[in-house]
Amino acid sequence: MHFKPVPDYHMHTPRCNHATGTVIEYAQAAVDAGLSEIGMSDHSPMPGDFDKAWRMHRSELNGYLQEIKQAREIFSDRLTIRIGLEADFHPGTQGYVEDMIAAHDWDYVIGSVHYIGDWGFDNPDCIQIWDTWNIEDAYTAYFDLVAASAKTAMFDIIGHPDLIKKFGHRAPKGSQAVHQAEEAMLQAVLQSGAALEISSAGLRKPVAEIYPHNRIVGRAATLGIPFSFGSDAHSPVEVGHGMDDCLTELSNFHTHEIASFEARKRCMIPISHA
Ligand SMILES: [Zn+2]
Ligand SMILES: [Zn+2]
Repeated sequence: MHFKPVPDYHMHTPRCNHATGTVIEYAQAAVDAGLSEIGMSDHSPMPGDFDKAWRMHRSELNGYLQEIKQAREIFSDRLTIRIGLEADFHPGTQGYVEDMIAAHDWDYVIGSVHYIGDWGFDNPDCIQIWDTWNIEDAYTAYFDLVAASAKTAMFDIIGHPDLIKKFGHRAPKGSQAVHQAEEAMLQAVLQSGAALEISSAGLRKPVAEIYPHNRIVGRAATLGIPFSFGSDAHSPVEVGHGMDDCLTELSNFHTHEIASFEARKRCMIPISHA
């Protein structure tokens, strides 16, 4: 490691039906990897049948909170454990998400876009739908939604901000439309005061690249947008994965601090060499 570990704020539990490991196991993995702070951020409940198979049910929310609080007690002398959530931004569901956020005490809420309309574009089961889309249109539609998510000011962190590239579909080089949509997204994030997540998850996906692309990291850094780090761990072995690559990327763009959240207040902590 070039860098001392920073908080990893993106990890899941089996409640979302596509992750393994208890919170205690995630916490132990974090301690073993030398981290001093993590946050759990499982896929939030959403109204109706929205993406139902891939997230916790509303009835599981209390158990989720209890499990994190219990792990917090057990690890209190070694590890700070934050209580977070990865909520989806999807037009029409905002009221439900707002109520849910207001009903509990979170340290932070990540806002993520996983759907364009009813298309779960990052879901391997829906990959053939890519064939029916113009890639440039998919990118602009995606960035427009991420910008809209930031404009709600509901979220503390904007999750994996170019997830649209997950399977390696690339917008045409030099596309003005995509460039403008990216810029509008970053301006919306800047206005909202949210942190932009730098995520190592893309390194484990077909695109084999950090989210977001280094062009976006560079522009965000220039604008002074704060970053948070997330591994998007869906199993304890992924905790802290790719952290050094992400921190190297940030430092290449002269960014030397990273976000920490408590009770939805952000403070910036220095990134320092190990
Ligand atoms: Zn997931
Ligand atoms: Zn996500």
